[in-house]
Amino acid sequence: MKLDKLVGERFKERPSDCTVDSHALMVRGGYMKYVANGIFSSYMPLKRITRKIEQILREEMDAIDGQEVQFPVVMPAQLWQESGRYESIGKELVRFKDRSEGPLVLGMTHEEAAVQLVREYAQSYNKYPFMIYQIQTKFRDEARPKSGLMRVREFTMKDAYSFHTSQQDLEEYYDKCHKAYERIFARVGIPEVVSVASDSGMMGGNISHEFMLLTDIGEDSIAICTDCDYRANVEAAENIVEYVRDEESQELKMVHTPDQKTIEEVCAFLNSDEKKSCKAVVYQRNIDDKYIVLFLRGDLEVNETKLTNFLGFEIHPALITEECGLTAGFIGPYNLKGDYIVLFDQSLKGMNNVVCGANTTDYHYTGLDMERDLGEVEYYDFAKIQEGGICPKCGKKTIKVSRGIEVGNIFQLGTKYTKAMNMTYVDSESNIQNPIMGCYGIGVGRLAAAICEVHHDDYGPIWPKAIAPYEVHLCAVRADNPEIKEFADKLYEELRAKGVEVIYDDRNVSAGIMFSDADLLGVPCRVIVSPRNIKQGIVEIVARDKSFSVSAPMENALEEIIKKL
Ligand code: ATP
Ligand code: MG
Repeated sequence: MKLDKLVGERFKERPSDCTVDSHALMVRGGYMKYVANGIFSSYMPLKRITRKIEQILREEMDAIDGQEVQFPVVMPAQLWQESGRYESIGKELVRFKDRSEGPLVLGMTHEEAAVQLVREYAQSYNKYPFMIYQIQTKFRDEARPKSGLMRVREFTMKDAYSFHTSQQDLEEYYDKCHKAYERIFARVGIPEVVSVASDSGMMGGNISHEFMLLTDIGEDSIAICTDCDYRANVEAAENIVEYVRDEESQELKMVHTPDQKTIEEVCAFLNSDEKKSCKAVVYQRNIDDKYIVLFLRGDLEVNETKLTNFLGFEIHPALITEECGLTAGFIGPYNLKGDYIVLFDQSLKGMNNVVCGANTTDYHYTGLDMERDLGEVEYYDFAKIQEGGICPKCGKKTIKVSRGIEVGNIFQLGTKYTKAMNMTYVDSESNIQNPIMGCYGIGVGRLAAAICEVHHDDYGPIWPKAIAPYEVHLCAVRADNPEIKEFADKLYEELRAKGVEVIYDDRNVSAGIMFSDADLLGVPCRVIVSPRNIKQGIVEIVARDKSFSVSAPMENALEEIIKKL
């Protein structure tokens, strides 16, 4: 490929709307173009990268007996009604109608399509196990697309679905897939990706793992034990609390706390420790705005994933109105009257001498004793694990919270979809059973962006060889010089004849422009033919990652380049 024919523009200035480096560099390097919020087109360099990633995904899925299939992007709503997700999924699922008013959806994930594809075929136990996979477009109407390819609305995903006749078989296959994922991330140049226990969210099922690339720009928070191998997404991590109870319980007293609304203000005002306070966080149920009042220890934060999993319905932060009966800023568990769903976090269990709201404007209680004053209430785990918190596995205070990008996710789904969609098989004893499923996703564009995040410098991406858009970037500096042009043209043809992927820059531009464009394309190996080099009878072969820089005699240029690759 000649660089002067490459469609797309490269430029120097960082676009002001790019919050992450991968986005800025991919826009500056002519990889992608904005079409609409969360929707982009790719130019050839990016397309070549994603094609290589997809090929690696394909090889690794084939290696664990996957069969590539194609699902529709547009599906009838009825298929999603069968699984129950037509109703349960929010606005991320795009719902629309065709010309005859038939309700349709855009595929945001394809469990339903997978079951639909195989349920007539796989009616006997001897057809199992099997895995089908796709590498296709998904559309999710994300609320806040951001960070370039990291969070978009339209994206390519490799998504795989396996079907089994026993939990044990699923687990064995799940491990196989876990290992395939480790190979995939190593092959695309980010072997440092770790797997963490995750929350299964809208997918259902119990066990799931996310594959995380740890970097500060990641949207996810991951709890990692520095002493054992515990790693979990903060969304899924259990928050272990120490049982603390003072020897003597004070009496319950109402105290005047004018204008002290937040727990920080109240505790500062009363000179008491936030760890000895109880705060209220209020939500409302999406369908009918019913209030949910959650009490937890003042220094902790709510883990909304655990809360919604417990409740089993969608919620939003509450709008506390005059009529609802709640006294914003002064809500407490003692003498709280009204028709609310009231929940208690386990951090409060057994506590005494607690500061809490008195459900009266400008008043709090001191000396609340959870056992004495509230009697029998149930406590559950609704709080976020914190830095320095207790490891749920080894019990030491060794939790570190790091940021990460979720590049892949695998799930043991169980029979959620096969039951709901009535997929059955006859087992060896003639019993009718529902097959057990697993599913396994990797976002292709997010993966490319994540790789760029950890492989770049100020001048551009430094693509790992396995996914780089080209293998060699050939620069003919001063190609208006016939000697240069002739030699570089010949080298270009020879490299191509050897099957090397070359991008060839013979434009009549300065070396500076040539090299900054080469930096933006991030090709691993740069070959420089220039008047100075030719005078010395050499070409320069330079690594984009600076790992080598050598001069090769012109007559051996081809061999030396191939050796370096
Ligand atoms: P997130 O929590 O980041 O929204 P998710 O957990 O909803 O993602 P999955 O359903 O697990 O996503 O999808 C599998 C993979 O697809 C993810 O691990 C990620 O690599 C990719 N992916 C998901 N949503 C997006 C998106 N909006 N933009 C780009 N890639 C995505
Ligand atoms: Mg996920």
